[in-house]
Amino acid sequence: MASEKLLQFVDRAQAYPPKRDAGHRASDFREIAERYAPPSAEEQAGRCSQCGVPYCSVHCPLQNHIPDWLRLTAEGRLREAYALSNSTSTMPEICGRICPQDRLCEGNCVIEFTGHGAVTIGSVEKFITDTAWEQGWVEPLVPGRPRGQSVGIIGAGPAGLSAAEYLRVMGYDVHVYDRYDRAGGLLTYGIPGFKLEKHVVTRRVERLVAGGIVFHANFEVGRDASLEALRQQHDAVLIATGVYKPREIKAPGVGAGGVVEALDYLTASNRKGFGDAVPAFDDGSLNAAGKHVVVIGGGDTAMDCVRTAVRQGAKSVKCLYRRDRANMPGSQREVANAEEEGVEFVWLSAPEGFTGGGQVNGVRAARMRLGAPDASGRRAPEPEPDSQFTLDADLVIKALGYDAEDLPSLFGSGELGVTRWGTVRVDQRTMMTSLDGVFAAGDIVRGASLVVWAIRDGRDVSDKMHAFLKVKARTAEAEQVAA
Ligand code: FAD
Ligand code: SF4
Ligand code: SF4
Repeated sequence: MASEKLLQFVDRAQAYPPKRDAGHRASDFREIAERYAPPSAEEQAGRCSQCGVPYCSVHCPLQNHIPDWLRLTAEGRLREAYALSNSTSTMPEICGRICPQDRLCEGNCVIEFTGHGAVTIGSVEKFITDTAWEQGWVEPLVPGRPRGQSVGIIGAGPAGLSAAEYLRVMGYDVHVYDRYDRAGGLLTYGIPGFKLEKHVVTRRVERLVAGGIVFHANFEVGRDASLEALRQQHDAVLIATGVYKPREIKAPGVGAGGVVEALDYLTASNRKGFGDAVPAFDDGSLNAAGKHVVVIGGGDTAMDCVRTAVRQGAKSVKCLYRRDRANMPGSQREVANAEEEGVEFVWLSAPEGFTGGGQVNGVRAARMRLGAPDASGRRAPEPEPDSQFTLDADLVIKALGYDAEDLPSLFGSGELGVTRWGTVRVDQRTMMTSLDGVFAAGDIVRGASLVVWAIRDGRDVSDKMHAFLKVKARTAEAEQVAA
């Protein structure tokens, strides 16, 4: 019986949950696709061929048990599918929404290679856990037997929150410090609602609060306490602060009014979504309404900016990127979404300056061509001679990516070891930094990466911290006995 529900990839076409019409969805910040209605999720899960060596799982950073929960879904055993999916991930419904599946699980599904189209793993994953929330299957976080030891976690993004959850389940007192007023990191203030509606993040955070994790909001380590002070207060500390130093454009006029930074722009928009007062949005500086907008960059952040500008009612939205479509870092799926919503891509073009004096009114750019591959293996762009052109722009958004802030200085902790990129250096075996009992995880170790990798790091580092804390407790006990 069960097998009839599986291996259906030849007869049953690949189908993602339908996207809302581009005209409609571009006027609000709701997610662009509804989720599967049953039985479509079951039917789509039934396309899986239950590979002996599932490449989908191999290429999932969490090594999720994908074929197993697909099988349970195909058989209508959704509650069991949820339990299994939840056993390897703290946020399956979030990954199902925002992982670049085309590069991870789905991009490596064998059915994709047979030409029938990958199993729609991410959409099924989202369906399973959204259903679990609705049905009340998501259980409260139950803290483990109290160990009398505490951990301090700096940063409430996906890395910090995942570590917090696992450590609380192990019985530690967990304190999370974040400089923002809301937890979630980039899930809350970076990624827009049309990719990830905010209530999806909020309900996860509320579950952690109910489980006894203590959140210290508006608490900036470096300003409100030094790293050393946290080390004194806790038995172990985790640095999970992400990367927030924007890469700059060196071109004349870049300091003009109307040339803004992507995360300032996205944070303002997300805050408006929460109903906050945002003076820089209300006075128009971070609002694209009625403006010609040019976004510079070709990554996920740039894609989020162009699509936010469309939703704010910009007059025109262009994305300027120095390489071509095939060589951009952002997801092709997001480019297609943006194009459907009216964004124009100006490929192979780089800014040379900004016109308008005190207030920007245009971007001077040059055409580029792709030369020989550089050290990273990607073909390096070089300017075409005499190819300058100008684009109208009342708002220019710089989205060139992020590097690590100077944590040793910010934290007043010169002994904290960092790499030449400023990311925190850890011992790969222990995930400990150069400071005893101080660990690090997520983007601050990897550089700008993905939510799913931050979750993976949070899972791994909680095990490493647990191992360290057990030894510390045993040593303290032995010392007491000896005394
Ligand atoms: P973060 O999420 O950055 O969280 C770090 C937290 O630390 C923040 O809350 C910050 O306030 C806090 N903090 C920093 N310094 C201090 C301090 N001194 N004291 C106290 N708190 C501090 N990834 C995907 O997988 N899919 C996507 O679609 C996607 N879209 C993205 C869109 C944008 C605009 C951006 C910028 C990134 C996107 N990413 C995406 C990447 C993803 O968001 C990150 O890789 C991930 O959030 C990293 O998690 P983290 O926990 O390491 O850091
Ligand atoms: Fe795919 Fe991401 Fe889910 Fe892994 S976590 S199965 S990569 S969507
Ligand atoms: Fe199923 Fe595709 Fe994974 Fe194979 S690779 S187990 S077909 S989802």
